[in-house]
This record gives sequence, C-alpha cells and structure tokens, in this order.
Amino acid sequence: MNAAPGPDELALRRAVIATALEMNALGINRGKSGNVSARRRDAAFDGYLITPTGMPYAETAPEDIVAMPIAGEAEPARGTRVPSSEWRIHRDIYRARPDTAAIVHTHAPFATSLACLNRGIPAFHYMVAAAGGSDIRCAPYATFGTQALSDHAVAALDGRRACLLANHGAIAIGTSLPAALALAVEVETLAEMYWRALQVGEPTLLSDAEMAVVIAKFRTYGQPRHA
Ligand SMILES: [Zn+2]
Repeated sequence: MNAAPGPDELALRRAVIATALEMNALGINRGKSGNVSARRRDAAFDGYLITPTGMPYAETAPEDIVAMPIAGEAEPARGTRVPSSEWRIHRDIYRARPDTAAIVHTHAPFATSLACLNRGIPAFHYMVAAAGGSDIRCAPYATFGTQALSDHAVAALDGRRACLLANHGAIAIGTSLPAALALAVEVETLAEMYWRALQVGEPTLLSDAEMAVVIAKFRTYGQPRHA
C-alpha cells in the first residue's frame, strides 16, 4: 500500500505544506486547525494529498502528507499518518467539482465570527463575486469530521468557490494551491469588511443585476485582481 511517491508528488506534497504555513503566516488561520489538500492523479493513483491531523505545520514533512484515494473510504493509499479529520469534505468536493485542484480550509477569525452567527456574506461588495456568485453562503452546522458536514459544505459550494461553515470556519477551492489560498484570503478580507460595516449599520447590498455584470467581467478578464 505504501509505494514511494515520485518527484512530481514530492513537489506537490511540499507545496501543500507551504500553503498551510502561508495560511497561518497570513493570519487567516492559527495553530493546527484548518487543513489543505491538492488533487493528485497519475497512472497508479487517483486521489488527493492532504495535511495530517494534529501536527503543527512547521513540523510537517513531505512524508507526513497523506495520500487519500478519491474512491472509497478513509484508508490512506500512501503514508503512515492519519489524515485531517475533514478528509470527507476534501474527497467529496473533488468528486463533485472535477475542475478543483486544491482546497484550503481555515478557521479565519472574521469569516468564522460571521459563521458563528450563521450569516453568510451577501453582495455588500462587488468582490464577493470572486467566489463565483452573488453571495458566499454559510453551510448549516454539523459536527466536525462528519459526512453531514461534508454534504452541507458541498451544497453550500454549489456554483461557488468558497463558503462558510456555521460555528466552524471557511472553505476556498481553486484550480491551484495559490488560487485557493488567494481566495481564502479574499473571503477573510470580505468577512472583516462586512463585519466592520455591520458595526455601523446595515450595509447597502448590490443588486443581482449588478452582481451579474461583475461576475461576467471577472469571467472576461480572467481571475479577478483587485481594481
Ligand atoms: Zn475545521
């Protein structure tokens, strides 16, 4: 079961660790919470590489990253570590969204604060469209590590690249590790701005028609960059 990873997979394992470290350095996650994965497919393996559970990212080595199969249950295809307790969310997102190459899950402070109010992020700012739609939904609460939580997350991500998880955190997905991480930062930035605006009053929301214009512009111009 434990064939040694080739050089491509070794590089991807390092990139998963680098992304997890950067997630904490950027202040969108703290400690051992959160997790990162990358899709990995070759002739011998169809699955994803995910951070192990309960290990500080600074002490995580490439061999600690767990290779999990896209099919079936928890049995790691390669590796001796136990995968992140949220491996079901990663597996199910890769199954539901074949265009996804990476997933970043954080307990980002402002996004999680909104999620603890069971509030998603509405179209209070045009950059909400960076997540793919006119809002960023908050998935209903379910116990961490459960299939129910994974089901809620996949549903909340429908037509989107990010969502909040009630009383828990946030998820961002992308076509690469840097893209998923950048979106996770954007979601936290939006959550902080929305939070701050709520301290003063009820933010004015953009119309569905205006958000449709913004979403179309993002499509035309490729990946959104801050204007
Ligand atoms: Zn979590």
